[in-house]
Amino acid sequence: MFNSLSDRLTGTFRNLRGKGRITDSDVNMTIKEIRIALLDADVALPVVRHFTSQVRERALGAEVHEALNPAQQIVKIVNEELVAILGGETRRITFAKQPPTVIMLAGLQGSGKTTLAGKLAYWLKDQGHTPMLVAADLQRPNAVTQLEVVGQRAGVPVYAPERGNVEGYDAAVEYASGTRGYGDPISVARQGVEEARRQQRDVVIVDTAGRLAIDAELMQQAADIKDAIRPDEILFVIDAMIGQAAVETAEAFQRGLDFTGVVLSKLDGDARGGAALSVAETTGKPIMFASTGEQVKEFEVFHPDRMASRILD
Ligand code: GDP
Repeated sequence: MFNSLSDRLTGTFRNLRGKGRITDSDVNMTIKEIRIALLDADVALPVVRHFTSQVRERALGAEVHEALNPAQQIVKIVNEELVAILGGETRRITFAKQPPTVIMLAGLQGSGKTTLAGKLAYWLKDQGHTPMLVAADLQRPNAVTQLEVVGQRAGVPVYAPERGNVEGYDAAVEYASGTRGYGDPISVARQGVEEARRQQRDVVIVDTAGRLAIDAELMQQAADIKDAIRPDEILFVIDAMIGQAAVETAEAFQRGLDFTGVVLSKLDGDARGGAALSVAETTGKPIMFASTGEQVKEFEVFHPDRMASRILD
């Protein structure tokens, strides 16, 4: 991820370094190259526009740092603006004053929510918390079982609904009806949070259903779950590999759920990464975590400054 963007940007700066003095036309040329590099990396157009106009304004303005040569100054500005579009400060989980802290996960099917649930639980446990997972994704076949497996790997208990009618269970019929014999996801989510409170777990992570595309019913279900469990954090999980569609998807979830933070998943892939760079800026919500593989430990807190340095390295 970001390799090509990183190469392009560092190449641009390399050209500048050879110059003793940098003119306005050098600045304009550099900004043009940055613009092309960002567009090629799939960064959304409004984000590119905002980014380049900020860099231009600052680079042509009277921002002089005695200790830096002109090329270094531009790199510094680009770095700071990258940190800004990635969300600025590292944003931590807000824990509830009265446990359990309720974290709801939302996103499209296949975005990596269930995998993330396990990683987040494992990471929290590692930090001394006592998380519990709740399987409220009753849409996708096997989602409940998958969460149970994930919970086992993470060494964290899972609240899963009982399947009501095992006798004569027909997955296809139940899937089509949307209930799959588990009852309704809103009650399951509510009961899961109650169970976490009863067992005095201090964090409860609620996995919810996604669909392949945004639809009104899905959004309503997520909004109903939100109303029922009043989460302290709603993490929107987005597959960094889906390209430009990421921005549109993020905006739809933002309107429907007003989530509190973003998790970028599949950052280990070879996508160009620009869409991922656009999500924080277009939704105004911070990227909080990055998922970088299928294993439970392949997960990190997202630090905008470190990510910017990685891109400009
Ligand atoms: P959900 O439908 O949103 O719950 O998505 P899943 O958690 O089931 O993930 C969908 C697929 O993506 C699974 O095959 C996961 O193993 C895979 N996956 C999830 N997160 C990552 C990641 O960070 N990197 C990679 N390479 N694969 C991932």
